[in-house]
Amino acid sequence: MLVMKNLVSEQELLVQRNYSKKCEEILKNMFIDRQPVCYVHSYGCQGNVSDGEKIKGMLAKMGYGISDSAQGADLAIFNTCAIRENAQDRVFGNLGMLIHYKKSNPGMLIGLCGCMVQQEHVAKKIAKVFPGVNLIFGTHVIHKLPEFIYNILSEKRRICDIPDSDGVIVEGLPVVRESRIKASVPISFGCNNFCSYCIVPHVKGRERSRDFFSIYNEVKSLVDGGFKEIMLLGQNVNSYGNDLDGGVNFSYLLSKINDIDGDFRIRFMTSHPKDATAELIDTMASCGKICKHLHLPVQCGSDKILGLMNRKYNIEQYLKIVEYARKKIPNISLTSDIIVGFPGETYSDFKKTLNLIKSVKYSSLFMFIFSPRKGTAACSMSDPVASEEKVRWLRELIDCQNEISEEVHKSYVGRAQRVLFDGAFRADCGMITGRTDTNLVVNCKANGAKIGDFADVKIIRSSRMALEGELI
Ligand code: SF4
Repeated sequence: MLVMKNLVSEQELLVQRNYSKKCEEILKNMFIDRQPVCYVHSYGCQGNVSDGEKIKGMLAKMGYGISDSAQGADLAIFNTCAIRENAQDRVFGNLGMLIHYKKSNPGMLIGLCGCMVQQEHVAKKIAKVFPGVNLIFGTHVIHKLPEFIYNILSEKRRICDIPDSDGVIVEGLPVVRESRIKASVPISFGCNNFCSYCIVPHVKGRERSRDFFSIYNEVKSLVDGGFKEIMLLGQNVNSYGNDLDGGVNFSYLLSKINDIDGDFRIRFMTSHPKDATAELIDTMASCGKICKHLHLPVQCGSDKILGLMNRKYNIEQYLKIVEYARKKIPNISLTSDIIVGFPGETYSDFKKTLNLIKSVKYSSLFMFIFSPRKGTAACSMSDPVASEEKVRWLRELIDCQNEISEEVHKSYVGRAQRVLFDGAFRADCGMITGRTDTNLVVNCKANGAKIGDFADVKIIRSSRMALEGELI
């Protein structure tokens, strides 16, 4: 029997379902001749997008229609991200736009939630500077949205609820999914790693794994419902199960999901290199439904900087995983995250990052300049390198990676690839977009293929950004 910590009780969820019904009644009386509509926008990572789908699910249960525009919405919620300063700046900019819309629609409700408002100083600033915001709620109380909306509608009062918590697990919330083809399934929440630059453990709480059967049953019902790609999500999927009784780990979960009947793919993100094991690579190699793509964020090529980042691996250990993955899965594609200009990083440290990416040959990289986050250890580290210098390093890194991406893409020309068409279909030129198992973008003439189809495609051309193919 598996034991789960921090599970929100069925009784508490029942209370919220009752609030949801009461909201539905109030909204019916408020909007006699039309359905109220809401707009929900999630910033940042796929975990946030997944939370946004639950927020939409709860609002739909209350009777809101879902709009893809904030203009004209009766309720708008920004589900925010705190990972970098510019993510926060964008929220502030767009919040100004919501306040502007509210001037012509004074009954409009505005809510903010997510990682950015979980930081007390930010929530206080928003409450003070933006009196037009009706609702501010933290990352640990998303499931209480029906109660918040009920209190706002019935008592016309402003709500700010940001409890400090190690985090909860909520099962069974309604979901409105962004796609009918690809579905994200969180397997764990929070993080215990405290990388020195990262705000996530401070705003999302400690690592907690969902119960194996809850995940398995959710994936099974998604596959039975026609979904073609399942993305398993966690801040560090590789440590899934460490907090559960019953001996399940991530490789076991992957192999059991692989055994579910149906024509579908499995992806996962994110893998912390310190927990990426040979068992994980062996499981990827032996399970046909697991995509041969590994996102393995290295962050930096210098052991000195990795130590300051508190990443708990060195480059030699990292390269051993890469070597093993390439040996067991020769066609595997690797992607990574790089932080440029971490406090204490010199140009010689940065050169080690360049050498690393040249030797690993990632198919693509997410590259960022270090962004200090209040409350993290790195925020108070001495950081003497000028920002113009960091921008130059980033430019050099991007140029180097562009050449590598082009080279990796070129190696696909002439090869057959199984593609899932999951992107846009352009009727003007009959082109459809999909992704290979290795997560590369492929454009090709549809010739009858539809979004949601798998097809074998021969790659005929490549560029730095994508592949071009034709149906076989
Ligand atoms: S592993 Fe590190 S970078 Fe990733 S969420 Fe946890 S603390 Fe942040």
